Amino acid sequence: MAEKKMAKMAVLKGPDHLDIESFPLPEVKEDGMLIKIEATSICGSDAHSIRSTPAQPSPLGHEFTGKIVEMGERANETIYSFSGPLKVGDRIAVYPWITCGTCPECMRHGNGVCMVCENAFMYGGQETFGNSKYTADAYEAPHFKGGFAEYVYIFPGTYVWKLPEDMPSEIASLLDPLAVCARAIEMAQTEPGVLGESLNTNTNAVVIGEGAIGIMTAMLLKIMGCRNVILTGHKDEKLKKAQEISRCDYVINSNKMEKEERFRYIREITDGGPDLVIQCANNTRASIEGLELVRKLGTYVEVGVPFGFGETFEVELPQLIFSKNVKINSLASNSQRVFDKAFHLLERYQEFPFEKLLTHKFYSLEELMPTMQKMRDVDYIKGVMILK
Ligand SMILES: [Zn+2]
Ligand SMILES: [Zn+2]
Repeated sequence: MAEKKMAKMAVLKGPDHLDIESFPLPEVKEDGMLIKIEATSICGSDAHSIRSTPAQPSPLGHEFTGKIVEMGERANETIYSFSGPLKVGDRIAVYPWITCGTCPECMRHGNGVCMVCENAFMYGGQETFGNSKYTADAYEAPHFKGGFAEYVYIFPGTYVWKLPEDMPSEIASLLDPLAVCARAIEMAQTEPGVLGESLNTNTNAVVIGEGAIGIMTAMLLKIMGCRNVILTGHKDEKLKKAQEISRCDYVINSNKMEKEERFRYIREITDGGPDLVIQCANNTRASIEGLELVRKLGTYVEVGVPFGFGETFEVELPQLIFSKNVKINSLASNSQRVFDKAFHLLERYQEFPFEKLLTHKFYSLEELMPTMQKMRDVDYIKGVMILK
């Protein structure tokens, strides 16, 4: 019998403990497929993950794109493609969650909605939820369950998109973060005509945070036709780049302008205060500021990440929320429907400079940890591993 081909994968074992290990390539079942990784982006949440201790050695990376190298006979029935039937050689982008479809939450919200399903599986995740058919155990076959690897095994029940010929794989690896921004925009929307309508051509918006999520959210607000989009952050170099990419109207360095002066300046630009504030900085102080800043009948959206539990802050409810009649929204769940919106935006990569978000390209698994150590650098927006 021929010896099984081996391939490499990053295995997360504990805080800052990531090993590159080899596993035999799995046998492709009739309902699955195997892709060879072409590009995987580093998510802000990956930085939190590598500081934690997973319950078992785990895969890492959920923002990935790859080329189909092997397909089970029934894969076109069991893997849900938004782009029609798939074949070996096609490149695909992947929705990173597989939900069970039958738990009470799936029955209520529909199959595919993440962060609610009791038995969900996440590619590149460290946790096995409920009775998920697939575990977050890197040592359990088919091993290749995360994007920081040379291959990924695609399970039945996965939603995927086929990349157009001309679309670079690294652009497609931005699908997941762009879908977060697309969801933030959905959470900002109100029915037309209500008091304090939040998103129209007259909207003045503030986006807090100069990371990839903040930048792409500002970009989407401009695409949606907002009148003024102001992005706030802390580093001049990043803000300059953020404005270039997002085409927002103003950037403000909060370190260089005292709060009082900053508020006065923003209120001047926005005729009294922003209609919409989207908080993408994952920082409780920024949340309070956002609530203070938003105008009466305005909308506030908190784009959180599921870390920092236990952090609290005090707000004066009557002044900050009640008397302002502010609409407060947040997001954690997402769905393949929103990813589909994001995918079609990425297809317009020649119109919008997504490419410029990819500031740190690297070309091997071994460079993953060194790149992650640069995530706080002033020139860092997004790291992406490109394998050829
Ligand atoms: Zn992500
Ligand atoms: Zn479920």
